[in-house]
Amino acid sequence: MFEDLKAQKPDGILMLMQMYREDARDDKVDLGVGVYKDAAGHTPVMRAIKAAEQKVWETQDSKSYVGLAGAPDFNDAMVKLVLGDALPRDAVNSVATPGGTGAVRQAFELFKMANPGGRVFVSNPTWPNHLSILDYLALETVLYRYFDDTTRGVDFDSLIEDLKQARKGDLVLLHGCCHNPTGANLTGPQWDEVIKVLQDTGATPMIDIAYQGFGDGLEVDAAATRKVAAAVPECLIAASCSKNFGIYRERTGILMMVANGTDKGIAQGTLNFLNRQNYSFPPDHGARLVTTILNDDALRADWMAELEEMRIGMLTLRETLAKELEQRSGSNRFGFIAQHRGMFSRLGASPELVVKMREESGIYMVGDSRMNIAGLNAQTVPVLADAIVKAGV
Ligand code: PMP
Repeated sequence: MFEDLKAQKPDGILMLMQMYREDARDDKVDLGVGVYKDAAGHTPVMRAIKAAEQKVWETQDSKSYVGLAGAPDFNDAMVKLVLGDALPRDAVNSVATPGGTGAVRQAFELFKMANPGGRVFVSNPTWPNHLSILDYLALETVLYRYFDDTTRGVDFDSLIEDLKQARKGDLVLLHGCCHNPTGANLTGPQWDEVIKVLQDTGATPMIDIAYQGFGDGLEVDAAATRKVAAAVPECLIAASCSKNFGIYRERTGILMMVANGTDKGIAQGTLNFLNRQNYSFPPDHGARLVTTILNDDALRADWMAELEEMRIGMLTLRETLAKELEQRSGSNRFGFIAQHRGMFSRLGASPELVVKMREESGIYMVGDSRMNIAGLNAQTVPVLADAIVKAGV
């Protein structure tokens, strides 16, 4: 039977990584895969994670199963980190998941259980895995306009026009901060307008927040998610610890569900059921590290300090790149790079120009011209600026 399987579409980013590895040039620059890197191109284990690992190693006396929803103290700490005081704790149901992807997958499955015929509104563009999971689950997807190719900011009027087409029973997926792949984000007042549309249409928001702390800071980055969660009767929130704790391979995330008007036993029980069907107990090692850090004042302070260093580092790279481009192009048309937030910026170059920059200058960015800003350092910023101008972007 397996001989009838069809080849799956290759992952564009993994293919790009392969090409990068095979490129013999020493001045090549990898702006592809979405992991944070320091100036030496290394993805470090954060100091607080190392300390938490030691603490867990010394004190953990069992590796027996945790609950189906994951450890309660992990759920409490993460609900607090993401939602702050926006909602009382008992208004939020939650389950630990394998990474943010696990949370996204469970959220879509939950939506499908609740409303199999519902539509999912996603930004155009969005993280490709959103689309591929939705396709795999055979959920109807509606793209809403998001990115303005001219300004490289959010095409807000079109976004609102498209979201007004949503109705009760639809799910509207929004990126909580640091939009992937564009780096363009809604302002506070724009979020208020989106909330108004959600309230008017009765559509249910789902927030994917995978980069809290990478944009404008831990609290500011969560502000929109908190505002949405407090303003609507139902919402889903998928959060990832991969980036802000640097624990990508530990697979640590959480799905939160606000379901006012639904029996709490049923709401939480459905989340537990979904974990049970898909992998039973969620992984705990990363969750234990996160909980250890968040519940220890000294570790938490050190984690926040290192996260802030990473955030400021990326912001500085953005500002330097924008400045170098301004000097070389004699215009401020690349100013958007300094306005974007998070790890990514969509340059807005055609696929042909992306290939040209790769072939001529060894710059590896994703085909839609998404650049991982954390892939740069003080030496490679001018190299990239030269390549962008030389290619005629
Ligand atoms: N959502 C978005 C928008 C992302 O960019 C990512 C990471 N690439 C995730 C979710 C999930 O990441 P992970 O499963 O590694 O936690």
